Amino acid sequence: MKKERETMVKLVKLRNEIRKRRCVSQMDELYKGGQRICAICGKSIERGYSVDHVYPRAIYKWSEKYLSRDEQNQLVDCIESDGNYVETHRDCNMAKEDTMPQIDRLYLTPEKKKELQLVEEKIHKELENYTNQKSQLLRNQNGKCIGCGCDLQEGVLRRKDPKMPRIWENACVVCHECNIKRERFC
Ligand SMILES: [Zn+2]
Ligand SMILES: [Zn+2]
Repeated sequence: MKKERETMVKLVKLRNEIRKRRCVSQMDELYKGGQRICAICGKSIERGYSVDHVYPRAIYKWSEKYLSRDEQNQLVDCIESDGNYVETHRDCNMAKEDTMPQIDRLYLTPEKKKELQLVEEKIHKELENYTNQKSQLLRNQNGKCIGCGCDLQEGVLRRKDPKMPRIWENACVVCHECNIKRERFC
């Protein structure tokens, strides 16, 4: 059973990697000779090219235990679809972590914004749930990081105990520094 689960996880990772590579090569084609603009900072991308999910994978990671398999598959497909990818600098992408995008503030063509709106419409319910749960957690923590106690604007959602599943009882919000330490928060 555990083996099966591990194989599943590997397959999903592989599928996502292939999608991402395909997406990079499609974008390469699309922007050949043109100027690549980072969706986050609006500057041209000369090095450190990356593609980024606008709506983060965390949305489906944190819904797995609450949706049927079909619903979950649909959600994954939508978040991994080309419509949800934008071009960014690798650094801008890393700095953003899994914070929620403000589409109006991204540097995108009107066509791309429309594509993102379609993604948003399809994942609306799960997106809303994710956002509400995360803000509720942050309120419960009095707006502070559970690791070091610093004030948080949005923070990073993660498991208190990384060995336990992604259920809301096992969730907390931490700052970037605490998140990269990868320790337990319980
Ligand atoms: Zn950038
Ligand atoms: Zn912290």
